[in-house]
Amino acid sequence: MTLPSARPVRTRYAPSPTGPQHIGGIRSALFAWLYARRHGGQFILRIEDTDRKRTVPGSVKMILEAFDWLGMDIDEGPREGGALGPYVQSERLELYQTWAKWLVENGCAYKCFATAEELAAMRKAGGGYDRRYRDISAAKSADLEARGLPFVIRFKMPLTGLTVGKDLIRGEVEFANEQLQDAVLLKSDGYPTYHLAHIIDDHHMRISHVTRAIEWLPSFPLHIQIWNALGWEMPQFAHLPVLLNPNGKGKLSKRKEQFAGADGKSVPVLAREFIEAGYLPAAVMNFLSNIGWNYGDNEEIFSAAQAIERFDLKDVNPANSAYPIAKLDWLNSQYIQRADVAELCPLLKPILEKAGFEVDEARLQRVVPLLRVRLKSLKDVAPMAGFFFADWSAFKAPPAEILIQRKMDQKGTADILRGSIPLLRRLDTFDADTQHAAMREFAKATGYKNGQVFGSLRAAVTGQKVSPPTFETMEVLGQEESIRRIELALQSLSDETAG
Ligand code: GLU
Repeated sequence: MTLPSARPVRTRYAPSPTGPQHIGGIRSALFAWLYARRHGGQFILRIEDTDRKRTVPGSVKMILEAFDWLGMDIDEGPREGGALGPYVQSERLELYQTWAKWLVENGCAYKCFATAEELAAMRKAGGGYDRRYRDISAAKSADLEARGLPFVIRFKMPLTGLTVGKDLIRGEVEFANEQLQDAVLLKSDGYPTYHLAHIIDDHHMRISHVTRAIEWLPSFPLHIQIWNALGWEMPQFAHLPVLLNPNGKGKLSKRKEQFAGADGKSVPVLAREFIEAGYLPAAVMNFLSNIGWNYGDNEEIFSAAQAIERFDLKDVNPANSAYPIAKLDWLNSQYIQRADVAELCPLLKPILEKAGFEVDEARLQRVVPLLRVRLKSLKDVAPMAGFFFADWSAFKAPPAEILIQRKMDQKGTADILRGSIPLLRRLDTFDADTQHAAMREFAKATGYKNGQVFGSLRAAVTGQKVSPPTFETMEVLGQEESIRRIELALQSLSDETAG
């Protein structure tokens, strides 16, 4: 037997296309991807759509969207193609049927003609399937089939003994065979179950390492027996811990009402929600790979490339983890602060456009450095900096409650605005430093505090209480536009006084 470690590394993510992509699935996929990349192997996407009732159209698109967004590249899959495809199970039915038949012919599986009523009665009696067709003669089986009775194919699970498996995360795991049922491999409509299909595919797609949710651990002995019956070399298995709700109770759910965070706000669990919530893909990547796995050195911020250098399935923590969603906002702001302007611009542009702004790219490039340290989420860009991209000619002076700062009054604010206009107009260069120096002088001469002066100007030119720094903002707006806005603000304050 070849040593498993001698096989080229090929991992896969094998979702069932049952609706929007859940973040727990992406986390499983991420571990498979990191492992493949660490070993210079291949990462495969396979769509397990054999449960036709649960298949939701459009799911694959959502899965791919999440992968593309995170930068998790796929080597083989329904979109990428590949030599061992097709990568969608409903397109491989013949293969499963062939092997199910082979298992029957070799005495490892059998046709079961139990009707729905029979099965319901067995359930009612409190037991599972009682194996009533396991030992019928070949002649009887052929006869029932010839009469056109529908049947499923079931695996002949050993009735006694132990099945021992190796899990990369948990070590050796042992199961008593008597606990297991004769599971269905092929349904009466000719579709395989997961138990059969994934094994046939993992073999034919030469998967070296299977990473899947811990929910599959109880079926692991069944799978080991099927692998043995087929006589194929098994991949190595890693059963991954699941994500629990943020309070640590219960599996992280897709249902809205269950995924409120500690503060009662809903937390994202669908891949699409992360995209829409304005998170940076690199921050989400960092966040996900740090759940149940550590980069080490107490380092919380690490890139995908760094994770790839160190990732090992053996180091995954076997315990289920509470979803540490509170960390994500912090991580996200760290990533935004460190990101290049060139990286942020294409992410911010569509958010601004969605908020109704027309984005001038050159201007965006000037604005991003002013914003970077202030954004917790990319979505903050619209309320904070949308005004740079609004129609300037339509700018209206903000109301008095914005213009008049705390501990200021109407007269003082008007004084500051009025006094600053000629000083700003006189400046030959309108960069932030020059403005800053002039306004500091002004504060000194008039006795107003710097904060009062800068704050009044900020409110006048942005119409907002929170914005990028005043002088950098005015530099982008330009001398003429800044002064025009201060004049408008002054005018509106005087109008109010007059009224
Ligand atoms: N289609 C299975 C699921 O979504 C895949 C499990 C596996 O990775 O083998 O749970």
